[in-house]
Amino acid sequence: MEEEKFDCIVVGGGIAGLSAAMTLARNNMKFLLIERGEFAGSKNVSGGVLWGEGLSKLVPNYWEETEGFERFINQRRLTFMDGDSSFSVDFKSESFNETPYKGIVVLRSKFDNWLAGKVEEAIAESDYPEDSFIATSILVEEILMDNGKAVGIKAGEEEFYADSIILAEGVNNLLTRQVGLQDKYVPADHVATGVKEIIRYDQQKLEDRFQLNGLSGMSNEFIGFATGGVEGGGFLYTNRDSISLGLVLGLKDLREKGKTPYDILNEFKEHPTIKDIIKDGEVLEYSAHVVSTGDMKVMPKEIYKDGVMVAGEAANLLMNSGKAIQGMDFAMHSGILAAETVTEAKTKGDFSANTLKDYRKKLEDSFVLKDMRNFQDAVHMLHSPEMFGTVPNIVCDFGKKFFSIENSPTPKTRKMLSESVKKHSSFWKLAKLGIKGARSL
Ligand SMILES: Cc1cc2nc3c(=O)[nH]c(=O)nc-3n(C[C@H](O)[C@H](O)[C@H](O)COP(=O)(O)OP(=O)(O)OC[C@H]3O[C@@H](n4cnc5c(N)ncnc54)[C@H](O)[C@@H]3O)c2cc1C
Repeated sequence: MEEEKFDCIVVGGGIAGLSAAMTLARNNMKFLLIERGEFAGSKNVSGGVLWGEGLSKLVPNYWEETEGFERFINQRRLTFMDGDSSFSVDFKSESFNETPYKGIVVLRSKFDNWLAGKVEEAIAESDYPEDSFIATSILVEEILMDNGKAVGIKAGEEEFYADSIILAEGVNNLLTRQVGLQDKYVPADHVATGVKEIIRYDQQKLEDRFQLNGLSGMSNEFIGFATGGVEGGGFLYTNRDSISLGLVLGLKDLREKGKTPYDILNEFKEHPTIKDIIKDGEVLEYSAHVVSTGDMKVMPKEIYKDGVMVAGEAANLLMNSGKAIQGMDFAMHSGILAAETVTEAKTKGDFSANTLKDYRKKLEDSFVLKDMRNFQDAVHMLHSPEMFGTVPNIVCDFGKKFFSIENSPTPKTRKMLSESVKKHSSFWKLAKLGIKGARSL
């Protein structure tokens, strides 16, 4: 059995797991990555924009081969909606065309599979070309413990042993709970459900409709009518010849309001703004997945213990501050940091919590936990009814007044604004919200 012992077993071939694996291969560690899906990415759903420059550190010059990603983002739009109108803030910048890109749109089944291919290449160049593996179609059922230390995994009748384990199993973190790092039940108000359709067009039509050039792309977030009064938001991302259109909806609010994600998505698609966008498109795929709301209260009690670390969304590392959903970049960075900690532990010959606690420190010092802490108020604020109801209604009501020119005396802008505010709220309530918002960002 000793012969078969790995330096590390990574559970999960999503972004966190693959990023950990790539780092382990580059650091000449002997490892086994186990993914339950038929191939890496086959079980994964994402909107999805991978934000930031992290990928260029894992796969330098990744943009020179375009198999992995769909488009890079050079245009961002935030749209407020009521029942018949939409009011957008739009930003496009030439500087976003430069590499490394600020964000790339990915389709996970394609992207994860591509990244797994890169990990295989790194394994081939490592000291363990024959002894490190990515194994698919295997479900890890149990983490084997010995005297409180994680020592291996069990999958069916098979057992595999390692000095360390990285749990990168995603939001449904059953193994993290099994080793006692996470409470058994996560309250429903800390979980959301994501639904997404992929709608295909003729590529030229898509590029004309969204004014895309080459591989440039757009991300559009929606607040208001999109979610049918349920807390959450909508998104639209342009792929090569399709769009990803979807919603993230608070699970508790959905249940309390007796609504289904599918019905809300259909209503969203009937909104005049969306109807025009998706005209002539063909729905190729519908998918749904649970997603964390990014509330730090539901993070595992700790993200390491003797022999084991938790990375990515399994550790609840995700943030939706209204500007974007950041889950994949957090997963990537945490996977890298966990793998670096394994490398250091091997040098020390100590895989106990005493060494693995450095993973926590690295994460605290990185943008992942710094941003999650800094923007927790924004995360909470986004769940308030004002944000997905009152504010978009005021914005759209004001837009209707401001942009309509009539053959009658035009009121001053401040009067229009005042009328819109009074119709949906009050200045006092809005001022309080504004102060809260300014502080949270
Ligand atoms: C609708 C939607 C839209 C989103 N949009 C964005 C976006 O635009 N940008 C962004 O950054 N994030 C987005 N996210 C969040 C993002 O998808 C996640 O944060 C990210 O996928 C987390 O990566 P991960 O590697 O931690 O987990 P996952 O991607 O979930 O990967 C976990 C892997 O582990 C495997 N696994 C689980 N259990 C086992 C087991 N017991 N044995 C073997 N294998 C196992 C799974 O099959 C899976 O492949 C979105 C999520 C949703 C649902």
